[in-house]
This record gives sequence, C-alpha cells and structure tokens, in this order.
Amino acid sequence: MVKLFKSLINFIYPPICPVCGDFVDSHGYLCAACWSRFNWISNPKCFKCGYPFPADLDLGSKPLCPHCAAGECDLDFIRSACVYDDVSKNIMLPFKHASQLKYQTLMSNAMINCLRDLDIDVDVVLPVPLAYKRLFKRGYNQATLLAHPIAKHFNAILDVDSIARKYRHDMGHKSAKQRRENVRGVFEVKKLDNIVGKKILLVDDVMTSGATFYELNRVLRKAGVSAVYAVSFCRVVHAI
Ligand SMILES: [Zn+2]
Ligand SMILES: [Zn+2]
Repeated sequence: MVKLFKSLINFIYPPICPVCGDFVDSHGYLCAACWSRFNWISNPKCFKCGYPFPADLDLGSKPLCPHCAAGECDLDFIRSACVYDDVSKNIMLPFKHASQLKYQTLMSNAMINCLRDLDIDVDVVLPVPLAYKRLFKRGYNQATLLAHPIAKHFNAILDVDSIARKYRHDMGHKSAKQRRENVRGVFEVKKLDNIVGKKILLVDDVMTSGATFYELNRVLRKAGVSAVYAVSFCRVVHAI
C-alpha cells in the first residue's frame, strides 16, 4: 500500500534533481552529473576533525592533522560532507538566506552519510543556535532544518531550547583568532538538565574556522555533557 502510494506521488510529482531539475530516482537526491561536481570529503582525512588530506597520501587508518595531533581540537569528532567551494556555496547560501529549502534533504542526507565511518551513539542533536534577532529576521534557523532528519536517523532528541545565543555583529571574513574572540561568551546554557551526561551532536550548515563549534564545545563540557561531536554540510579548507 505504501509502495503504491509512493508510486502515485512519484507519478504526480516526479522526483527531480534539486540543482538542475533533471529527473532522478528519489526525491531529494542529486543527479549523477550534479553529484560529481561536488568536492565530497572522503578518505584520507583527519580521523578526529575530518580535515581532508590529498587523495594520493596513504596515512593509515586513523591519521591526524597537525592541529589534532597537537591536541588543539577538544571535540570528540568533527565531520563535514563536502568542501566549501563555488558548487557547495551555490546550495548552502540560497538555503540559508533565500528560503531555498528544496536543498534540505540532499544536505541532510550528505551529512548523515559523512558520519557513517564513526560508530557513535547520539543522545541529543543540537543545531547551532541563532540569536533571536537573526531568527526573527530570517524566519528559520537553517541548522535546525538540517538537524531534523539527522536526529531522526540517530533516534535522538532534537534540542533547540537548551542553549541560547546572544546577538553579535557578523564576523565577515575575519581571521580564525578574531572569529574565536568574537564568538567567545555568546552561548548560554538555558536548560542544563537536558544535556548533562548526554552525547551531543552539533549541526551547522558550514564550518569556517571551527570557532563556533569549539566555543559551543567549551560551554557544553563545562555544563557536564559526556561527548561532543559536530557535523556540517560544507567546510572551508585552508592549507595546513
Ligand atoms: Zn542535477
Ligand atoms: Zn584534525
């Protein structure tokens, strides 16, 4: 019956690639041509923070980037589906600022996929909070939209109440150090009981310098959570 219903829906609304509009097999998936244009992050990558290494390097099963080897990443794991470039930017920015919600499924699916190499349990999925001023202006938090299917996948609680964010001016193209300073102290724990002792997965659309994830991690650890993971759709990759 469900199969018949699905066939009927697919007949009335044939699944199309959200980027180019070509017909595809299932709703929310890219066609092969569009898929191949993304710079998906696969191995080899830093086992801890997911930083992508050049494809021809053989670094063993759990390589670490210099930052993680030096103990500079306090999160348990970070993963991103793809590199931030012109292709991913053309999905991510309209999704974030222009209500192009047709990209939601493909972005969430890609994020779930990039977490598959980690055998993790997640209790709480926590989209990176927006300050209320931004939330009212935009009407939605793009990270929360991405987090819904991810929470469902992990059978975890979607938490949008436990952490609040204060408003600060946009960071623009600042250095990593300036970004860290700008984000310091912006997050505040509102509902401690929801997160104490829990394994938390942070969700965001893009990871730029990692400053937001690191600051949230600091606040959550102080609050007594037991693990912090983070996932973004794309990440800015600088040479290290
Ligand atoms: Zn396409
Ligand atoms: Zn790393």
